[in-house]
Amino acid sequence: AERLHDFAGPTIFSEMTALAQQAGAANLGQGFPDSDGPPELLAAAADAIGRGLNQYPPATGLPELREAIAARRTADQRLTYDPRTEVVVTAGATEAIAAALIGLCDPGDEVIVFDPLYDSYSACLAMAQVRRVPVLLEFDGTRFTFDPEAFRRAVTPRTRLVLLNTPHNPTGKVFDESELALIAEVCMAHDLVAVTDEVYEHLVYDGLRHRSLATLPGMRERTLTISSAGKTFSCTGWKVGWACGPARLVTTVRTVKQYLTFGTGTPFQAAVAHGLTRCMPWVDELRAELARRRDLLVAELRAVGITTYPCDATYFVQMDARSFGHDDGETLCRALIRDAGVAAIPSVALYDDKAAGRHLVRLAFCKEPGLLTTAARRLAAYA
Ligand code: PMP
Ligand code: GLN
Repeated sequence: AERLHDFAGPTIFSEMTALAQQAGAANLGQGFPDSDGPPELLAAAADAIGRGLNQYPPATGLPELREAIAARRTADQRLTYDPRTEVVVTAGATEAIAAALIGLCDPGDEVIVFDPLYDSYSACLAMAQVRRVPVLLEFDGTRFTFDPEAFRRAVTPRTRLVLLNTPHNPTGKVFDESELALIAEVCMAHDLVAVTDEVYEHLVYDGLRHRSLATLPGMRERTLTISSAGKTFSCTGWKVGWACGPARLVTTVRTVKQYLTFGTGTPFQAAVAHGLTRCMPWVDELRAELARRRDLLVAELRAVGITTYPCDATYFVQMDARSFGHDDGETLCRALIRDAGVAAIPSVALYDDKAAGRHLVRLAFCKEPGLLTTAARRLAAYA
């Protein structure tokens, strides 16, 4: 269909992973860890298969998983959700995002997004024939932030919802209290729904805390919070995600997802229920380890004068193509794979405003320290 033209090729992540494999490059491109999650989580999946949990799950997800998700929301954010009506399990966060956008918007509606935005948002909005209205996250010398007036101006009579990703891919930004307060204020003033993608909720460093938009006064009733197990437990291939929110929003997601996939990965759902209940101490270690890996990579790059941007969370840190004498991250990334043996993601692929993202390159540090050191030394030699 015409509306899919822009999305016909493989995603930037698939493309860069394939190029990295061909070239034997150190792959700091696609965001997936190169070591497994907690052994007891893996054992729980094997055990679930052994126990015969191999047929369709209920369309809303295994009850034990919905209960574990609700319990985590209470423990982590002091929010209460009814596991029967206010939680739905999806095929990764990706399906929850797609189902929310398809279910909550009509063709011609508008959705406000922060730019840069995760690749599936643009594609799903195009499929749903919804217009994306970007609000740019600009680097102000200290951090990536947005102009409050630009955000207010983005609202029109056609605005249906605000789609927020925090912690944010690819900037590594955690939206702070005042930014969340402004988003909440605008949502309430214009009766907008908020859909939040919080897949990196547990990967926040340096003692900072992630706060769900739904915790702000008046927001629980208009916010659909999406997350997934992939990043939290280093199992990105399991594709177990979920959405929590008031029943009217969760029902909408369920209505769409029951015809997209109906259900997903029964034994993995059982294992994730175990993980959310029993493996959070492992996640604390993961968080500490990822912060060390970020520091390792950033220190190596800074030592040779490569500019990197602040990163408070996620798997990603951005560097500046101009440190390599390029003003264009896309050309640099292709040269790096070919000539330096390092794969990275040109952040511009995630930008609506191509000029704003032109010089940025995203590096994934969710990789073994040896690989990070190799990649950093190759970058240093090339710079
Ligand atoms: N949202 C963001 C911001 C992401 O970076 C990713 C990729 N991990 C996803 C959603 C997709 O999550 P999942 O693999 O659970 O579908
Ligand atoms: N979320 C991963 C990233 O940002 C990519 C996942 C995918 O390839 N769809 O790198």
